[in-house]
Amino acid sequence: MREALTLIGILIATAIVLFSVFLIYNTPKNSNNGNSTIPYTDKYIDLHLHLDGAITMNIAKQLAVLQNITLPTNNDTELEELLSVSDDCESLNDFLKYFELPLTLLQTPEGLSESVRLVGDNIASQGVIYAEIRYAPQLHCDNGMTQEDAVKAALDGLKKTKLKANLILCLMRGDGNEEANEETLELAKKYLVEDGGVVAIDLSGAEALFNTTKYKEIFTKAKEQNIPFTIHAGEADGAFSVQNAIEYGALRIGHGVRIYEDPNVVNLVKDNGIYLEMCPTSNRQTHAFEDMSKYPFMDYLEQGIKVTLNTDDMGVERTTLANEYRYMEENHGLTGE
Ligand SMILES: [Zn+2]
Repeated sequence: MREALTLIGILIATAIVLFSVFLIYNTPKNSNNGNSTIPYTDKYIDLHLHLDGAITMNIAKQLAVLQNITLPTNNDTELEELLSVSDDCESLNDFLKYFELPLTLLQTPEGLSESVRLVGDNIASQGVIYAEIRYAPQLHCDNGMTQEDAVKAALDGLKKTKLKANLILCLMRGDGNEEANEETLELAKKYLVEDGGVVAIDLSGAEALFNTTKYKEIFTKAKEQNIPFTIHAGEADGAFSVQNAIEYGALRIGHGVRIYEDPNVVNLVKDNGIYLEMCPTSNRQTHAFEDMSKYPFMDYLEQGIKVTLNTDDMGVERTTLANEYRYMEENHGLTGE
């Protein structure tokens, strides 16, 4: 009898310990000692999110099964290493190689459509209530899709996700893809709506290698055709890249973290009401900004610049939008207000 009671005692004690551990690991890590003023449960908006950068391991597995694609490994740790940057990532160019595997899963209409649905549902489950998902149709034509097929497929996925979202079509920095960029521009014109589909274009890729000035003509055309655009600028290249983007007519800037390099560009951004789509974790990993203790988000905010927080590539970076807010609160004093 005594042994039975001892056993019951041990079982109860074990249950209490396990339940406590469960509580510790499942309590949202929301605050600075419970003093957080930011609601970490909902109402996030992500304006800068790349579809191919948001392919988490779980999404990759589902896309592989759907399309009968064999992933390079069955081992989760190895798969995660192929999909997410390591801490020794040296530059934006190094960072960009982590998009290779996700892109192989996004080359059929069903794969692309399903990826939009899965990414949308994933971030909706993390409290995001609206997102603009961006991708470059020209990077999805390896297995016979046309750029237009790629636009239609993503629009199809948009209808199926729980998330309220729109699409941004990216032009790509590079050589030899001028026609592909023109085609993307034409598709943006054809499919542009105010809400519920394609809402803008962007310029993505290696900014330091292919300057923004190279794209003056195509964005002048976009402006003439009333196609709204954002441009990745002031990330791998300097403040003048942002200046060029604004001169061509960009309404928002992807990153823009480096505008502090030129006070005139800071004023240009402020005076024109340009929105900066800032992405702290991405900037740290690509080394767009080195000393994160001096990350200028709060400075820009205090100067009256319209700044937003975004994930950029949540799969590649292993982050969430909530993490980005938490980081700014805990390290830079961002408040709910
Ligand atoms: Zn980006």
